[in-house]
Amino acid sequence: MAEGRIVKALSGFYYVKNESGIFQCRGRGVFRKQKLTPLVGDYVEFAADNHKEGYVTVLKERKNELKRPPISNVDQAILVFSAREPDFSAQLLDRLLVHVEASGIDAMICISKMDLLTEEERKSLEDMGQMYRDLGYEVVHTSVYVDEMIQSLRPYLEGKVSLFAGQSGVGKSSLLNALRPELDLQVGDVSKHLGRGKHTTRHVELIPVNSGLVADTPGFSALDFENMTEVELSHCFPEFLMYVDDCKFRGCLHVNEPKCAVKTALEAGEISQLRYNHYVRFLSEIQNQKRRY
Ligand code: GDP
Ligand code: ZN
Repeated sequence: MAEGRIVKALSGFYYVKNESGIFQCRGRGVFRKQKLTPLVGDYVEFAADNHKEGYVTVLKERKNELKRPPISNVDQAILVFSAREPDFSAQLLDRLLVHVEASGIDAMICISKMDLLTEEERKSLEDMGQMYRDLGYEVVHTSVYVDEMIQSLRPYLEGKVSLFAGQSGVGKSSLLNALRPELDLQVGDVSKHLGRGKHTTRHVELIPVNSGLVADTPGFSALDFENMTEVELSHCFPEFLMYVDDCKFRGCLHVNEPKCAVKTALEAGEISQLRYNHYVRFLSEIQNQKRRY
């Protein structure tokens, strides 16, 4: 029995890759009976003849799985935010960070289109980047026009499965193109966004970049807090974690409770006011949602 990883799913075929090459496989009927669907990213066992065709026989346990795009075993999400066009928004970044934190996938931040900034604006976004580094996130600044900046992203992809996330137009496809010039995805082309409609088959593919793999379809597009509780939200702010044990109340939400260690840290300037404000805003979105039901 051979082993490998599904790197592409298309029209009922799973393309399984290992050191011998890529095998075009079908899923065993047993998966359908068990309501198991092999996903791109899955490690599998398969039986193949020497024509590079075969059957997936065993799905190995997944570390994580996402619905959109349907993919498993993602190591990190690269959150792409443009400096300009569209303007950088720390609130949107924090919103996306919360979603990635909640999924259990590591997050790193890429601030793109740095070439569109003046010297002064650049300084201010670099300071912003430093604040996120202090929270424990890796941060890179890029421009597709500056090769050195593109190369600075490469080491973070080594040996990992990465998924780009971020609004439309921030430059995700451009980055992937710059990292893999032979790919030529349709950058900024409207058909790219509409192309997933009636006639084209929706598929996800893991594309090799150096020793890593990058998903060709971005993830984390729904950014409401529909399936999140207030306490879960509070766990998505890593800077709160070192204080929560000192809050007087267990399950403290760090807003109106007395003797709250997070608020004390905030007043002492140890926690960013901007991040805290976003937390309070997201918390009220969750509370308003609960009221509606
Ligand atoms: P996506 O929707 O996130 O995949 O964004 P695209 O890669 O399609 O890029 C959207 C637009 O931004 C296109 O017009 C790109 O040419 C432009 N763009 C992407 N990266 C950069 C960059 O680093 N600098 C500048 N000035 N424009 C960029
Ligand atoms: Zn508290």
